[in-house]
Amino acid sequence: MKAVTFHDYGGPEVLRYEDVPEPWAGPGEVLVRVRACGVNRLDLLVRSGRSQAKPPLPHIGGSEVAGDIVEMGPGTSGFAPGQRVVIAPYISDERCEYCLAGHETTCIRGDVLGLISDGGYAEYVKAPITHILPIPDGVSYVEAAASTLSAPTAWHMLIDKAKLQPGETVLVLSAGSGVGSAAVQIARLVGAKVITTVGSDEKIRQALDLGADEVINYTRGDFSVPVRRLTDKRGVDVVVEHVGTDTWDQSLNSLARNGRLVTCGATSGVAGTVDIYTIYAKQIEILGSYGGSRGNLKQVLSALAHGDIRAVIHEEMPLADARRAQEMVERREQFGKIVLVP
Ligand SMILES: [Zn+2]
Repeated sequence: MKAVTFHDYGGPEVLRYEDVPEPWAGPGEVLVRVRACGVNRLDLLVRSGRSQAKPPLPHIGGSEVAGDIVEMGPGTSGFAPGQRVVIAPYISDERCEYCLAGHETTCIRGDVLGLISDGGYAEYVKAPITHILPIPDGVSYVEAAASTLSAPTAWHMLIDKAKLQPGETVLVLSAGSGVGSAAVQIARLVGAKVITTVGSDEKIRQALDLGADEVINYTRGDFSVPVRRLTDKRGVDVVVEHVGTDTWDQSLNSLARNGRLVTCGATSGVAGTVDIYTIYAKQIEILGSYGGSRGNLKQVLSALAHGDIRAVIHEEMPLADARRAQEMVERREQFGKIVLVP
């Protein structure tokens, strides 16, 4: 089959479009014909060799897969070849103490599709049947693929962790990112007021179209200043943080008393400081959030099918153009998702 692999860690130039052996479905697994695969910052992190967990090389990245079941492995049931499905990318072992307590994204032996396991930058990928969900009618492969990693992550952050309430104000960093474009919409669905940031004036209109109430161009300086102005100096109840070092101080300074900062990533770096006085005196909560559960993915797919949220697609590209796709994400040129089509 055709796949995009890398044999060494490095920049986008290490990606190769080449022929590799087709995987097969082992016990408890299904084989999926990939129809669409979303591009994520995680793919870039793994390819660069900077991820905490590193796969054996050569490796096939790609966590957001939508496609058709082509083969059911031994001991699997409940699906059939030809069925349109997505793969829930947070692969949990189903049996550690965290899984048993219903917290699959903190699984002690967890993987993400395309992190250690081979992912969806390929014509075929295998996955455990336990992590297969049907695509609802009316949702395309491309829309589904654009929504299996970053949108459930945003859902988990806002609903499960920050427990966002109607009438609250939320600051979503980077409306053009996968997590950001989903978080703006989910926060609106809850009934919150949404302030968001973008990296260029051209993206302001797109952020407003997604449902943001206020949009700040973060290249103009410390965004906590306009956040304070827009909230009558009060600050926001919730900050959706996924940038890290570059934005950390500004995110904390944007919080109101009793505010919650929820973070799911740190693409600009993991170092950040906190003013302990501010934490206790303003009774601020800092919440870690890792990915999304199968329950979160099911909720996202249902919201897509009902038109409550939409997949924000920047561009569909052939799988062979994976390098160009990753270069665009690296330069933050996109608004929404880039989806590769094998
Ligand atoms: Zn587990």
